[in-house]
Amino acid sequence: MSDTNEFLAQKLPRRDLVKKLGLGAAALGAAPFIASTAAAADHGRREPRESEIGFKDGKFVLPPLDYAYDALEPYIDAQTMELHHSIHHNGYVNGANNALEKLDAIASGDGDPGLVKHWTRELAFHGSGHSLHVLFWNNMKPGGGGEPTGELAEAVDESFGSFGNFARLFKAASGAVEASGWGILGYEPLSGRLVVLQAEKHHDITVHGVVPLLAIDVWEHAYYLRYQNRRGDYVDAFMNVVDWDDVARRYTAAKG
Ligand code: MN
Repeated sequence: MSDTNEFLAQKLPRRDLVKKLGLGAAALGAAPFIASTAAAADHGRREPRESEIGFKDGKFVLPPLDYAYDALEPYIDAQTMELHHSIHHNGYVNGANNALEKLDAIASGDGDPGLVKHWTRELAFHGSGHSLHVLFWNNMKPGGGGEPTGELAEAVDESFGSFGNFARLFKAASGAVEASGWGILGYEPLSGRLVVLQAEKHHDITVHGVVPLLAIDVWEHAYYLRYQNRRGDYVDAFMNVVDWDDVARRYTAAKG
């Protein structure tokens, strides 16, 4: 059992999770991709928002956004949001479903075990892409920005010294991702502290067990129409749409 699955099992009995999210038995293997959603919902004693449900009726699904495509203007433009959500993110949903189907076939003896390396890599790429995009959309809101409050603010201070220090590190990490990837603020369970990580593509150079709380997509498809090569300006702009309440809920759920 993975750390994430173990964490999830402690947070919420599986049959409750299945009931809560309307999942079939086939969904259980996909628990890591919905762990943060389920945990947040459990801790907050609320049903997940529709925008947080990335798996339904035995398939990965593209959840709708909580806001209109133009709601994050002027920081992120409407055309980028629409293409990013409806085309790019949807591609990862389809890729994850395809990989899962092929792996299920290998598991049942119908597939080609010689391709297991290919399909596990495909699942890692598309599954992580799906998971991070669901997080990314929910990490943002119109009128966001500012700084966290409450216990998340305390954790930021304890982990980085100050919010300013965190922001400097997060922006530096996001700006310096080589080629396509993500800047991530995550909760590291062994140390109990917050960490800033980069992800290359969606799934490379991670620390297993870290629960992503805040993620900024720095693939060119996330910013090129408005910002062209100026990734740093886009990262600065992103800080104005961060939903710190959403990040705080995830932090509270992750630390348990
Ligand atoms: Mn993207």
